Amino acid sequence: MRFVPVPILAHHPRPANTSPAEPAATADVDDDVRAELSILCAACRATITSPQPRTAVNGSHDRRFVNPAGFTFHLGCFSAAIGCTIVGPDSLEYPWFPGFSWRYAMCGACGCHLGWHFRKPDHAGFFGLILDRLQQSAPDA
Ligand SMILES: [Zn+2]
Repeated sequence: MRFVPVPILAHHPRPANTSPAEPAATADVDDDVRAELSILCAACRATITSPQPRTAVNGSHDRRFVNPAGFTFHLGCFSAAIGCTIVGPDSLEYPWFPGFSWRYAMCGACGCHLGWHFRKPDHAGFFGLILDRLQQSAPDA
């Protein structure tokens, strides 16, 4: 029998068809994972990435760019973004990062445009995500 010191199921009512004799499903969740901050899609709150894969490209993590239509984007660079789906063909038009081709990076859950994935042959690639379209949160906040 595991001792569970806090009522961690308080915000997650047990489904009516679950036997009260079953152990709590959340009792084995890793505390480190629960405490880790996530970076979420601001539109649907799906997990997109976390602060750990923040990376610097050409010397800085965050950059401002103006696209050909005149819109300014404040991008943060991330080496990984598990919640993004990369779509479209590689493009070399309007190279914000010289030498890198780019594709669109969309929220894998709601399809919102979150930024771009940049890559070139001798580089692992990175995501440039629009910081206004993300929010930081603990997973169960
Ligand atoms: Zn989303």
